[in-house]
Amino acid sequence: MYSVIIVGTGFGGLSAAINLRKKGIDDFLMLERRAFAGGTWLQNSYPGAAVDVQSPLYSLSGHPYPWSHLFAKQNEIAKYTQGIIKQYSLSKNIKLNAMVEKAQWNDDHWHILLSDGKTYDCKILLNATGPLSTPVVPKFIGLESFKGKHFHSNDWQHNVNLTNKKVAIVGSGASAVQIIPAIIDKVKCLHVVQRTPHWVIPRPDWTIPFFLRKFLATRPINTLIRWVIYWILELRVIGFKYSKTILGLVAQRPALNHLKKQISSLELREQLTPNFIIGCKRILISNTYYPALQKNNCVLHDKFDNIKHFTANGIEFAQAGEVNLDVVIFATGYNAIDSMVSYEVIGKHGIMLSKYWKDYPRAYLGTSIPNFPNYYVVTGPNTGIGHTSAIFVIESQMKYIMQCVEKIISGNAMSIEPTEFAEEKYTEMVHKEMTKTVWAYGGCTSWYQNKQGKVIAMFPGFSFTFRRLCKKFKFKHHLITR
Ligand SMILES: Cc1cc2nc3c(=O)[nH]c(=O)nc-3n(C[C@H](O)[C@H](O)[C@H](O)COP(=O)(O)OP(=O)(O)OC[C@H]3O[C@@H](n4cnc5c(N)ncnc54)[C@H](O)[C@@H]3O)c2cc1C
Repeated sequence: MYSVIIVGTGFGGLSAAINLRKKGIDDFLMLERRAFAGGTWLQNSYPGAAVDVQSPLYSLSGHPYPWSHLFAKQNEIAKYTQGIIKQYSLSKNIKLNAMVEKAQWNDDHWHILLSDGKTYDCKILLNATGPLSTPVVPKFIGLESFKGKHFHSNDWQHNVNLTNKKVAIVGSGASAVQIIPAIIDKVKCLHVVQRTPHWVIPRPDWTIPFFLRKFLATRPINTLIRWVIYWILELRVIGFKYSKTILGLVAQRPALNHLKKQISSLELREQLTPNFIIGCKRILISNTYYPALQKNNCVLHDKFDNIKHFTANGIEFAQAGEVNLDVVIFATGYNAIDSMVSYEVIGKHGIMLSKYWKDYPRAYLGTSIPNFPNYYVVTGPNTGIGHTSAIFVIESQMKYIMQCVEKIISGNAMSIEPTEFAEEKYTEMVHKEMTKTVWAYGGCTSWYQNKQGKVIAMFPGFSFTFRRLCKKFKFKHHLITR
């Protein structure tokens, strides 16, 4: 029996593992369904992939790195992740190709079943399966008859040569905005299929001079830089939640100016102007997206020219008719709700998590759930943030999770779960506060919401408020058995 099992090896899983190591807890196992460890930044190797939060903040605290760009590219973050795995000798704790299918609470421990039939037991189960880990391709009529190649941006096929090929990219969100400029000069023609235009703001990227990199990565300097970036980004919450005027002035107006400055055609500008308030969907940052769309070999298909169906040779569009294609790239996002926990979980009294979350996913501090003792969901319901680093939130959750882990491992508790009352009050607070945010009133549909339009991905406030809530373990909010 392991003390702890962690499902997933992205930043969520790694942060948990580092915290356990630091506490001297070494009998933990990390289960990873893929053939490699590292999560998002190992998996997403598409051209142009890069982080959109400044790298000194989008990194684990206490683990500075001599980043080469202010917004690091995928390969550098992947290298950083591998460095962390090596530094903490995590490979010996990681089991690859281990797809968790089911977890069941058996009186005093979790019993875990993998897809290959293997089983494991542990006292504490940490779920870090990542909400943006399971890609989605909408059901298009005739896709199976298409003779060309097609793949999702999350699963980039590096063996498919795009040089001089007729390519379509379906989607115009965060991944598409990075891929399009990266491939436009290579392909013969690029058809961009846009359902909804997104707000795009300039990307203040900076190649960090070689001689400065190590200096900026020294502990005191890195701490200072993180602090400055953190507080600048945190100010965005004022716009997202408290002041539409400020949101308009500091975000929507600069985005409109960016569009006007970079797009000369009035018709194209109109096609690219969102009809929702900025921030409602994730704000995209790019200096190269709009210029790429105006290249001679690029064709934009907007919502009036959507995909009718696929044919053997390409796509039949509503207005453009049939377009012949060699390759179709789906930049169509993720199943953020189902992959929050990507396997069956059965708690006390046979209660199924899918039933408990029938209406919408909910958890105390977005992390723990009544009747699911010793079970913690990293990047769980309403822990997302649109304004700062996801790693800050993951590390905030760790403050709460590790207090529970310590109590259980030290023998002070056999099991810990939040009370139904505490979870209900927390969830009530979250959704009441949510009504004040642009994610709720901004006039868009996004992956932040479930099918009923309830915002289940975001935390409605400052990230320091979330951290404060996580820091102090409240005994009266928990049911503890000894
Ligand atoms: C393309 C892309 C760009 C992003 N850019 C940013 C950004 O700029 N800023 C930001 O803050 N956030 C960004 N994010 C969000 C990003 O997901 C988080 O920042 C962070 O990496 C999440 O880490 P995680 O460990 O929770 O999830 P992941 O990194 O997704 O790791 C989850 C792991 O769990 C594994 N897993 C899932 N199900 C199972 C199972 N049943 N059994 C075993 N293993 C399983 C997966 O294979 C995966 O390795 C981005 C996400 C994507 C996809």
